[in-house]
Amino acid sequence: MSDAALFFSSVTALLWLGLVLGLALGSFLNVVIHRLPRMMEHDWAAQCAELRGEPVPAAAPMNLAVPRSRCPSCGHQITVLENIPLLSWVWLRGKCSACRAPISVRYPLVELLTGIGVAYCATRYGATLAGLGAIVFLCALIAACFIDFDTQFLPDAITLPLLWLGLLVNIPGTFVDLQSAVIGAAAGYLFLWSVFWLFKLATGKDGMGYGDFKLLAAIGAWTGWKMLPLVILASSVIGAVVGILLIVLTRHGREVPIPFGPYLAGAGAVALFWGPPLTHEYLKLIY
Ligand SMILES: [Zn+2]
Repeated sequence: MSDAALFFSSVTALLWLGLVLGLALGSFLNVVIHRLPRMMEHDWAAQCAELRGEPVPAAAPMNLAVPRSRCPSCGHQITVLENIPLLSWVWLRGKCSACRAPISVRYPLVELLTGIGVAYCATRYGATLAGLGAIVFLCALIAACFIDFDTQFLPDAITLPLLWLGLLVNIPGTFVDLQSAVIGAAAGYLFLWSVFWLFKLATGKDGMGYGDFKLLAAIGAWTGWKMLPLVILASSVIGAVVGILLIVLTRHGREVPIPFGPYLAGAGAVALFWGPPLTHEYLKLIY
């Protein structure tokens, strides 16, 4: 085989491997997105009961591994065949096989998004530390994005490990040098922390949550401090446009908080994969 043919066959193999791995990871992310907030709520209830000296509620009814997934309408246990990412949803035409209750289109969408994202990481970085790191970063951002969208809450269980992993992965300068990563983490946190306190002192209201500071710190650790202006600008602009559309189109109350995490997560992924060429083009426009 010629060098070119060998190259393309290895890229094709990586593409398919990445897609299959990504679909499976997406299926797992659906479980995380659904269960992690419920597990945390249970923990909080248990801690509150303990502080009040009341009996602690029974052990957590679920973790990420057990019980097996069930249809929320009829309790039908999802079989192995009904649990194949993407294909099962299409094959079942989006309905529970037992009670025909509709299954949200979000499940196959999360799987497809993760599948395409991981396939991209695999073909771009191959089997390297950068490839593995990019997949971890992407999966954490997808989980954080949908959990924040559902609950207006960014779990520490995702943002803090992502922050530390970002610093570790950049020790050998995988995405940026370690100094940029450390400054990125600190500056990301302190920037939103300052905005939060200025807004609070000026209006007496909470404009965002501490989870947003931690998420931006994590993004700064992975992408370096030079990407922070891009991430903040892109997420604010998209967040403002979506927020205004929501208020105008759906009569979403002005006082109802709109989560900022999904936009931060999206901008963070863009910054890791395409940040340097994007900022280069942007700076060319100015100078
Ligand atoms: Zn059912």
